[in-house]
Amino acid sequence: MILDRRNFLTTSLGLAAAATGFAKSASAADYSLPALPYDFKALEPHIDARTMEIHHDKHHATYIKNLNDALKPHSALQGKPVEELLKNLKDLPTAVQMVVRNNGGGHYNHSLFWTIMGPDAGGKPTGKLAEAISSTFNGFDAFKTQLSDAAVKRFGSGWGWLSVGKDGKLAITSSPNQDSPLMDGSTPILGVDVWEHAYYLKYQNKRVDYVAAWWNTVNWAEVAKRYDSARG
Ligand code: MN
Repeated sequence: MILDRRNFLTTSLGLAAAATGFAKSASAADYSLPALPYDFKALEPHIDARTMEIHHDKHHATYIKNLNDALKPHSALQGKPVEELLKNLKDLPTAVQMVVRNNGGGHYNHSLFWTIMGPDAGGKPTGKLAEAISSTFNGFDAFKTQLSDAAVKRFGSGWGWLSVGKDGKLAITSSPNQDSPLMDGSTPILGVDVWEHAYYLKYQNKRVDYVAAWWNTVNWAEVAKRYDSARG
């Protein structure tokens, strides 16, 4: 658990070169797949083990491979924190903007997603985050409804988000594909993946049922940590 967490933090900070345990074929600056901080089956019955395995080991791994491949000819960009790439997409060479947007976004979004879920989770936040959610969205139940709506109504593949804006305030949004609130200068602290790969095996077309079940996996302690850190 401690090692997994450190691996995630190291990767998300883009300090991959400092970490140990790389595959021999990977260069020191490559991004690497953070270990899932719990078993594939840990989120059952809400999210099934097979979905978690394919989602983490195949989908997330592919975003990372595509990102690494795209940045191979751009050594100045390799190993930069993925957050930094996403916040400054238009400063990147035109040739890699879209591939970083899609695959860097995929890497960042999924790295966040694994940590904001967990076993024996769900319920409600506490403390400052609970107060902020309640005052911003007129209560926790209204917040849940709004974020669920944003996620369920996102047409096609994408995400529903709770983010801290540049003004320090909470906002609910949704994004297409692997676009991240980072691209708009916001800091996502909670996200729900509504790509069909996140739910189709168990829920088929019933995205609304998946999102309702997903709330039972939310690791509010991690969301609160991210809230505090986003507000500096
Ligand atoms: Mn996904």
